[in-house]
Amino acid sequence: MSAIPNPVSYTDFYRQSIEDPEAFWGAQAKLIDWHTPPQQILDVSKPPFTRWFVGGTTNLCHNAVDRHLATRAEQAALIAVSTETGSEKTYTYAQLHQQVQCAAAVLTALGVTRGDRVLIYMPMMAQAVFAMLACARIGAIHCVVFGGFASVSLASRIEDAQPKVIISADAGSRGTRVIPYKPLLDEAIRLSAHKPSAVVLHDRGLAPMELVAGRDHLASALEARHRDTPAPCVWLEATEPSYVLYTSGTTGKPKGVQRDTGGYAVALAASMKHIYDCRPGETMFTTSDIGWVVGHSYIVYAPLLTGATTLVYEGLPTQGLDGKPNGAIWWSLIEKYKATIAFSAPTAIRVLKKQDPALLKKHDLSSLRTLFLAGEPLDEPTGRWISEGLGVPVIDNYWQTETGWPIISMVNGVERKPSKFGSPGLSVYGYKVKILHEITGEELTEPNQKGVVAIEGPTPPGFMQTVWHDDARFVNTYWSSIPGQQVYSTFDWGIRDAEGYFYILGRTDDVINVAGHRLGTREIEESISGHAGVAEVAVVGVADSVKGQVAMAFAIPKDSAIVNDPEAAKALEAELMRRVSEQLGALARPAQVRFVAALPKTRSGKLLRRAIQAVCEHRDPGDLTTIEDPTALQTIQQMVGT
Ligand code: AMP
Repeated sequence: MSAIPNPVSYTDFYRQSIEDPEAFWGAQAKLIDWHTPPQQILDVSKPPFTRWFVGGTTNLCHNAVDRHLATRAEQAALIAVSTETGSEKTYTYAQLHQQVQCAAAVLTALGVTRGDRVLIYMPMMAQAVFAMLACARIGAIHCVVFGGFASVSLASRIEDAQPKVIISADAGSRGTRVIPYKPLLDEAIRLSAHKPSAVVLHDRGLAPMELVAGRDHLASALEARHRDTPAPCVWLEATEPSYVLYTSGTTGKPKGVQRDTGGYAVALAASMKHIYDCRPGETMFTTSDIGWVVGHSYIVYAPLLTGATTLVYEGLPTQGLDGKPNGAIWWSLIEKYKATIAFSAPTAIRVLKKQDPALLKKHDLSSLRTLFLAGEPLDEPTGRWISEGLGVPVIDNYWQTETGWPIISMVNGVERKPSKFGSPGLSVYGYKVKILHEITGEELTEPNQKGVVAIEGPTPPGFMQTVWHDDARFVNTYWSSIPGQQVYSTFDWGIRDAEGYFYILGRTDDVINVAGHRLGTREIEESISGHAGVAEVAVVGVADSVKGQVAMAFAIPKDSAIVNDPEAAKALEAELMRRVSEQLGALARPAQVRFVAALPKTRSGKLLRRAIQAVCEHRDPGDLTTIEDPTALQTIQQMVGT
């Protein structure tokens, strides 16, 4: 490995990462501990597959926990705050080590070994983080499923991941409303062809649980038996998978994004230094959920890899520890724990914007250096409001479940440059971001031309390795949509200005983004069309002032009389909404279901979702030369009042 010279500017830093990725990432690899150093930094012998740090062995849990014991044993590693259960608990690195070791010993006792999958379906409690780290410790591949998903979503993930063990809890809670998990889990296991051999259940006393004999175990009982059982870290190849995280796409079947071990650790450690600028011993408060990629990367792994303290928060942004409304709870936690870096989503800020602005000034936020926002477009008024209100810079950063860390951001740990409202910033080191013409595939090099945001390989460390057990899907979905070349499509539209700042302009596919969470309209359509009273349905994402987008459904009922019978329509709408909530989770529930006699389609029978979306958002539906029956769209137009 050749040493890279000290960069003088971000431009140089970026150039080094692209021109000599081996030297660049070889130097970054020193940010983590290796059991065996890598023999080869980068292997691109089978594009588009990229392998980083080949021959190196390491362990994510060692780097996140054990490595810090010598110098930080008594420092807070994890602070779990729940405004749902009114609890607040700090775990030092020594205590975290003990908890994780015990959780790892429990998994080992249940027969889990290297390469086995463990599915985690849990609320935001400290034990969920222990479970993830325990998997990493013994080389098991964790598959965390967002606790807001319901049984059908969960079942498809169980079936695909085939976990040996599932770890769950009695219940989650939202706005102090208890959501029992166990019945949803039991139903999901019933629906799945694959059955786990064991289920471990954490009981917070929120909801009663019926245990299935021979399969279900209370975590407390297993932990009592393994309190002192050693569970050493298993040294994994850098290229071995650390986890699979499912994300929605354009088909009804979610994709298992598979991440490696060594590349991920290096990418995250480097991002904490160069992008998030969070230092060892400091506190990072990321308000996401462990069920999403932001939670994996910036609640769990990155802060701990850095030797920082991570704040794990369960609850609404507007609720106090006493369960009563409190629009300043996050700011009070930043003050109390002296957080230096906060990371949230625009949708949460739009919720907080409805609160009294004086709440932003109620607490001493002098520790806070930067607020990062990601997950969906950050509109300028929201960005300005929060930046001015908190008196700190706000950094928008653009990335995806697939990438694991930012693609486009400001890289202020290397060089401070001005942000521009509406833009997440510049191409991050390691990423060759291009704007390509969607039909010709030609690169649009002139400023401000709209095209598809694409990434040219080799992809940097931390980027997804493949789709879990489906290399063909990885290549066909992500690397084959731009004509004439093998480049990764983000499926987002974007432009780049003359100074290299990118602007993201929405998805090119049928994926929608509700409150910063990605959902496939196809999954919602499948749930609705599974109802006996529905002949056909189209689901589109429609702009919403708080959630960014909400799902809106247009259904053709089997009984055509319903179209003109408001009462029957109301009843069926309520039934369909309940169905989506029960099957997929409340997040996916459409804001409205409207009943129509026909749906707008092309002459070849393709649903014109984009035209429907445009009329719902009072925009021009664009080119309709291929439409089969224009009256179908006109009806929708009248319904939504355009
Ligand atoms: P997910 O994989 O669920 O994180 O969703 C990724 C998608 O969310 C991206 O492809 C974008 O469509 C959107 N997204 C994420 N971050 C941003 C951002 N900072 N600005 C605009 N869109 C974003």
